[in-house]
Amino acid sequence: MNTLVSTIREKYLHALDQIATAARKSNRNPAEARLVVVTKSQPLEVAQAAIEAGARILGENYPEEGVTKIQSLGNQTGVEWHMIGHVQSRKARLVADHFALLHSLDSLKLAQRLSRFAGEAERILPVLLEFNVGGEETKSGWNASDESTWDSLLPELAGLLDLPHLRICGLMSMPPLGKDAEDSRRFFRQVRRLRDHLADQLPGADWSELSMGTSMDYVVAVEEGATLVRVGTAIVGERRHTSEADASWTP
Ligand SMILES: *Cc1c(COP(=O)(O)O)cnc(C)c1O
Repeated sequence: MNTLVSTIREKYLHALDQIATAARKSNRNPAEARLVVVTKSQPLEVAQAAIEAGARILGENYPEEGVTKIQSLGNQTGVEWHMIGHVQSRKARLVADHFALLHSLDSLKLAQRLSRFAGEAERILPVLLEFNVGGEETKSGWNASDESTWDSLLPELAGLLDLPHLRICGLMSMPPLGKDAEDSRRFFRQVRRLRDHLADQLPGADWSELSMGTSMDYVVAVEEGATLVRVGTAIVGERRHTSEADASWTP
């Protein structure tokens, strides 16, 4: 094992251990909380090392960058690639063709395009719906910060259930950046309450997945019911660059 792999492996195993402890603490089965290792803006060798270190789910934010990695590394058995970032309409086909799960579905229009492209690719794309529970202007997702407005979202969300080539599996959220992990707890609880509400109001879909928690707060997220945590820097280190532009990424 080279140094990069062993460094990542140590952090990966530590994260798994933290997740298992948090799950047991809240009387959950540790197997219900899966770890997505976020390799966005990391070079190919870091993604490769994460897989060698044991990562089974990799998360990417930018479709082109993700697809390049999938095409270089994706044929390894048992490895899943998830799209976790905002998807622009014109990138929808890349996502429909290449990713195992989209965490960040944030509009009906995008959903309609994804369903069409998934149909053309003769597949069903599993998706999570992204909700903005902090109400921040800069965040994507349906605004769910005010519980009294939840029911006004139902007609649009019901429209998603009718799309033939998407399969809704649950919710995703990215709470406001707090000063420590405890600041996220009330937002994670709100996401879970929203999930329970949607499961009640729109029983035609599966609402079981909750994607929430990043490097700074994934332990709290698991305590509050996360089934997928998205951890980048705590496992693979600082990102090499933070450019939003796919095109600037080179392997
Ligand atoms: C970058 C990112 C993460 C991972 O963040 P870290 O702080 O590196 O753990 C998780 N989720 C989303 C949506 C991201 O964009």
